[in-house]
Amino acid sequence: MTDTLFGKIIRREIPATIVYEDDEVLGFNDIAPQAPVHVLFVPKNEVIATLDDVQPGQAHLIGKLALAAAAYARQQGFAQDGYRIVMNCREHAGQTVFHIHLHLLAGAPLGRFGTPAG
Ligand code: 5GP
Repeated sequence: MTDTLFGKIIRREIPATIVYEDDEVLGFNDIAPQAPVHVLFVPKNEVIATLDDVQPGQAHLIGKLALAAAAYARQQGFAQDGYRIVMNCREHAGQTVFHIHLHLLAGAPLGRFGTPAG
């Protein structure tokens, strides 16, 4: 596996608070949470730098990430209140870790999104 920060978390080489795991997806708390619940869901077995690099044969991974987030929301009891999932792609979205991941944000009403920075 190409070495990334999230690869190290997947291999348990650096610590993280892991809150979800199945055969293909790991979920762990973001180190700098932007909402009361902020979990990152990453594919465990494939490293892809950005959403733009996902090939058609890898499309199922995106669904796995989204369904893992939805399952976690149901299990934690906030699915009915609602939540947001986000994938940042490259510079204008502020992507900082180049190992695709899906953010799950929840736990309080969330502000709107998509406004230009500054
Ligand atoms: P991005 O900005 O690439 O969409 O998201 C990367 C996320 O990884 C950020 O929200 C950031 O707070 C989080 N992050 C960066 N370093 C670490 C770390 O060492 N551990 C954990 N758990 N999250 C991290």
